[in-house]
Amino acid sequence: MSLPEAVAATTAWALGGLAVLWLHYEVSGAWHRRRRLPSLYRCERCAGVYEDGRRVPLSACPYCGTLNEAVKR
Ligand SMILES: [Zn+2]
Repeated sequence: MSLPEAVAATTAWALGGLAVLWLHYEVSGAWHRRRRLPSLYRCERCAGVYEDGRRVPLSACPYCGTLNEAVKR
């Protein structure tokens, strides 16, 4: 392999690696954006509907303090 060929091959590999890295971050970033959506809760006691960005399994109702399970993830 001559020097220009070696440089071209190295550049191609580097660009390919960058493309793979970029794709990886795009996909994982989209996944994290979806995961950051707040969970929706409906209170069993006062029927109040509220969101909690902490994504905890049980969240206290801001109206009456009752712990409720998320209805949508
Ligand atoms: Zn409530």
